[in-house]
Amino acid sequence: MNENEKVLELARNTGFESVGMLDMTTLRFLPEVREMCEVNTCGRYGKSWACPPACGELPELQAKVEQYKEGILVQTVGQLEDSLDIEGIQDAAISHGKRLDEMWDEMKKCFPDVLVLGAGSCSRCRTCTYPDAPCRFPDKLMHSMEACGLMVNEVCTRNGLPYNHGKDTICYTGCFLFNR
Ligand code: SF4
Repeated sequence: MNENEKVLELARNTGFESVGMLDMTTLRFLPEVREMCEVNTCGRYGKSWACPPACGELPELQAKVEQYKEGILVQTVGQLEDSLDIEGIQDAAISHGKRLDEMWDEMKKCFPDVLVLGAGSCSRCRTCTYPDAPCRFPDKLMHSMEACGLMVNEVCTRNGLPYNHGKDTICYTGCFLFNR
């Protein structure tokens, strides 16, 4: 089994339903994705250390991501009872966060500088300390792909993974970036 297969197997064993290698040359860092953050549809803009503006400007995050030569995409796919299954959506989001943490710990053993990008804002704490006090868990602070200007559906498509897994499913995507 080569190194890529080992990382993919680790992701599958962590529970991710869908995984694939990430070709770093496919990434586009789009100001318009950051502008969508500023529209604040999710309500997290200016509410978290992990989100704009606290997470840093796009060129800064782009430079951080571009330090890495290799990556893997991981997806948690939740089956919903119907499109209004809020509990199912929340359960999938919680599972995704736990899996990212678990795989992060494992990846660090081989790649101490591994960078993980999650889906949406950081939800580790019930209430984020931003902006009144420092992040409670700076070593666990995870930026989102969107904060880095990445259009998640485009990244998935360009790397051969579906973004939509079919009727009555919810999909959360993240990635691990590393250098050998
Ligand atoms: S770990 Fe807690 S304090 Fe830090 S960004 Fe996430 S929610 Fe905010």
